[in-house]
Amino acid sequence: MEHFRRSLILALASYLLLACGWAQAQGVMELEAGTSQVSLSTHLHYFHDADGAADLATVARLARQQRFRPLPSDNPAFGFQTGAFWFHAELVNRRADEQRWLLVQEYALSDRLDVYLRYADGRVVHQAGGDHLAFAERSIRYRHPNFWLELPVHEPVDLFVRVRSQSSMQVPLTLFTPTAFTEKSRDAQLAIGLYYGILLALFIYNLVLWLTLRDASYFWYLFHVTAFGLVLFTLNGLGFEYLWSDSAWLADKSVPLSICLAQIGMQQFTRTFLGLGERWRLGDRVGLGLIAFFVIFGIAATQLPYSIATPIASLAVFVNIVWIAAATVVAVRRGYRPARIFLLAWAMFLLGTALFVALAFGLLPKTFVTEYGVQIGSALEMLLLSVALGHRYAALRSANERIVREAKQQLEHKVQQRTTELRSALGQLEDAHTRLRETSQRDGLTGLHNRTHFHNALEALVAKAQREQQPLSLLMIDLDYFKMINDRYGHLVGDECLRWAAHAIGKALRPHDALLARFGGEEFVAALPGQDLQRATEVAEQLRQQLRERNCSSGEHSIAVSASIGVHMLDTRSLDRNLEEVIDEALQAADQALYAAKAHGRDCVRAAPLPA
Ligand code: GH3
Ligand code: MG
Ligand code: MG
Repeated sequence: MEHFRRSLILALASYLLLACGWAQAQGVMELEAGTSQVSLSTHLHYFHDADGAADLATVARLARQQRFRPLPSDNPAFGFQTGAFWFHAELVNRRADEQRWLLVQEYALSDRLDVYLRYADGRVVHQAGGDHLAFAERSIRYRHPNFWLELPVHEPVDLFVRVRSQSSMQVPLTLFTPTAFTEKSRDAQLAIGLYYGILLALFIYNLVLWLTLRDASYFWYLFHVTAFGLVLFTLNGLGFEYLWSDSAWLADKSVPLSICLAQIGMQQFTRTFLGLGERWRLGDRVGLGLIAFFVIFGIAATQLPYSIATPIASLAVFVNIVWIAAATVVAVRRGYRPARIFLLAWAMFLLGTALFVALAFGLLPKTFVTEYGVQIGSALEMLLLSVALGHRYAALRSANERIVREAKQQLEHKVQQRTTELRSALGQLEDAHTRLRETSQRDGLTGLHNRTHFHNALEALVAKAQREQQPLSLLMIDLDYFKMINDRYGHLVGDECLRWAAHAIGKALRPHDALLARFGGEEFVAALPGQDLQRATEVAEQLRQQLRERNCSSGEHSIAVSASIGVHMLDTRSLDRNLEEVIDEALQAADQALYAAKAHGRDCVRAAPLPA
């Protein structure tokens, strides 16, 4: 963690700090009684060997000639440098109880360190470290390069450290007694463990959610957490310790690569979370452009020297984060509620980083919160992002539910509307059908039933009469000399007389519950249920007289209309006979009776003889 802090200071501030002065007293570093941990920065002097060719003897001579300079502002950071940097300090151990000290280079990414101890007797002890050597070669299995130093009591010893690295030139060297180192590393490991524990818990929690919900946002969140975790893992030196302990190549490339991955994850997560494709097309395109840049740059970084790749990556990270914040603000302003927690999450991250930078520039005192600003900020950020994901999911779900509910309501309304329409259409159809049936059963001129209907209805009456053993009689009514009416007054007047006669016959027969129809031309037929021949003849006689008594008046004419009527009573006793036959015979018999009436001189009633 310490090293992430230092690398960040470096990326943002090293050049600034470089200009801040050289105030440092030269002197011997005494490891006093009571000292158990001491930073070498205040006592170190350095020499930049630009072509990296100088050997120990040469630089030792330069040191004697006071050609080494104190560290600028006690800060052992120089940015990206070529060649080698030599550091020198003279140590005197005053602690009789501690002759073995551990020198730790508290920056994980240096490629190669050579540590030389030159004792008073001229003896030189050399050790090497850095991530271009295998991890196993370290004095202690620890994420930072470290070296055991034997420091005899009260004897001045010259310490020379030569550093070469493609990564930035940072040399925060600290001396520890074994006890102090153990205690310090315990605390650091606990903090690191807590941090990665939070990340891991968030990872697993959201992994489960992703597996169940299959929402792309969750995937990109996982991607972001993993890649961001990898960045810190790399900067902490844990990547080299646990993941690529023998690969100098990966040790060099892991920083820009993991940064690119983290940025791709961040940007992709932002795009899917905010739904930029629908909310802000331009913003979405820019986001895609940034992703494309990081993909291409990530590939290029495997070929580019570290000193070029990392500063470009750092600048692009800045652009990317500013862009994410801008896109989130746009989404919030466009009324997307889940974006508010999203914004808060990134604000936490930026605030944590800002606190940390403020500490680096000496604007804020060193406290737990300022020192671990980046870690606290990023842990809060990821936690809030996870909460934001939950909110987003809830928002999506309630929007879905609303859509389904509305669709259902609409559907119900439509169905109701359609049902009403269908019902009214059916009603109309039924009406039309009834009217059609009515018309098909009626005669157009007189409005009486027609012959077809009479036939059908008579069948029912005959069947009923047979069943109930009731009499049933037929009247066949024909108007007399109707041709003459037509001839004399014209067809239209004839029609009127026909209508008048139909009306008169209907009126006369209504009390007898008769079935009446126009049989054709000026001929009518009536069935009288329940009437025997005698009663039927009486009814026919009444009808004949009623026609006779009144005249049909048409315009100025008053026309006398008479009728001849044949009466016949059906034989309802024979149950087994065909209805058609019975009816045909009956009609024929009635017709014969009518014929008889005509023959008798018209305007009279004749009954067919009763069957034997
Ligand atoms: P009869 O006493 O022998 O029945 O004499 P008639 O003239 O009534 O009998 P006929 O069968 O010779 O003539 C029937 C006439 O009825 C002929 C036809 O012009 C007339 N007629 C039939 N149907 C209609 C009609 O719908 N309208 C009019 N105006 N006349 C009709
Ligand atoms: Mg006639
Ligand atoms: Mg006739």
